[in-house]
Amino acid sequence: MPELAPYAASDVHSRGRRYPEPAPSHRGEFQRDRDRVIHSTAFRRLEYKTQVFVNHEGDLFRTRLTHSIEVAQIGRSVARALGLNEDLTEAISLAHDLGHTPFGHSGQDALNGCMGDWGGFEHNLQSLRVVDHLEEKYAEFPGLNLTFETREGILKHCSLKNAGALGDIGARFINQKQASLEAQLANVADEIAYNNHDVDDGLRYGLISIEQLQEVALFAEQYNCVTQKYPGLDKRRHIHETIRRMINYVVINLIDHSQNLLTQSAVTHIGNVRDAGRVLIDYDTEVKEKTLALKRFLREHLYNHHRVRRMSHKATRVIEQLFNAFMDDYRILPPQYQSRIQACDKPDGKTGWARIVADYIAGMTDRYAIAEHSRLFDPPRPT
Ligand code: MG
Repeated sequence: MPELAPYAASDVHSRGRRYPEPAPSHRGEFQRDRDRVIHSTAFRRLEYKTQVFVNHEGDLFRTRLTHSIEVAQIGRSVARALGLNEDLTEAISLAHDLGHTPFGHSGQDALNGCMGDWGGFEHNLQSLRVVDHLEEKYAEFPGLNLTFETREGILKHCSLKNAGALGDIGARFINQKQASLEAQLANVADEIAYNNHDVDDGLRYGLISIEQLQEVALFAEQYNCVTQKYPGLDKRRHIHETIRRMINYVVINLIDHSQNLLTQSAVTHIGNVRDAGRVLIDYDTEVKEKTLALKRFLREHLYNHHRVRRMSHKATRVIEQLFNAFMDDYRILPPQYQSRIQACDKPDGKTGWARIVADYIAGMTDRYAIAEHSRLFDPPRPT
């Protein structure tokens, strides 16, 4: 790995793991985190989970797995350019979506609604829950026992109420401190990845058009530049060339502006980064404005497209009906979830029960949720 800048996260300054372990012999601490994430069950399930489209709608759309790999790619490039810790950036990027429900944003809104009386559902918190508790693989500890820095990056947002119950990992939301630069970077890389791949998938699916996108400066500038330079280029290549340039444009701005912010703020240590009072991995004002305009466009024309909304409605019904069925009778759950419910506070309230149902539903892939719904609700077919 190239030499780290003084403000980068490092093994030496890591705040360690919840259950102390001997240092790894042939790799760094954050490499070990990254490797544990890749070998987790939740990571494999990302292949069959989606953000905007339902997984079986087409083979060419992004899934949460390919999204996470794109986030890691963008994150690593910027990390190397700024002298930040690539392994930590990659570990956070690959883990950042582990707690997502099936059916993207509509799935998590529905599950949050279902959990209203029992503490709600936050996907960032659920990602942390996956790596801290739900992955049961190792003999000596629950979860993946990741470093503080990877866990801090996974928990990018958190309500103050929940932060209070999380101890050291939630403290920064209460004390208004920043996370490491690598965590800040994974957050921006996530945004760059989904803004651009949603344009690509939206065009491919015919939900948005190039004509509509002409109102978005970030797209139009690059698209028109490609038209001038390569007249007659076929449509798919034209779109890909445009999107690659859009990513490049924001990434270069992110590197240059963040470098300026790091220099101006004179941070010399990860401790200064946490106390800096603002994020230091950021675009300049012009690119930030352009990015916001693209997000507004996507919200209006893609995420609220009637075909996407229809799918969201269907997804919401599936999640709500599954949740209600499991809350009516926990004995229809798979045996391992029944035992967990029997071991919690079932007799005097349903808080623990509801959380275990939420864990089960959140862990489902899109297709598993649909199949489970059909097993519970469809009348048996006569033979
Ligand atoms: Mg993401």
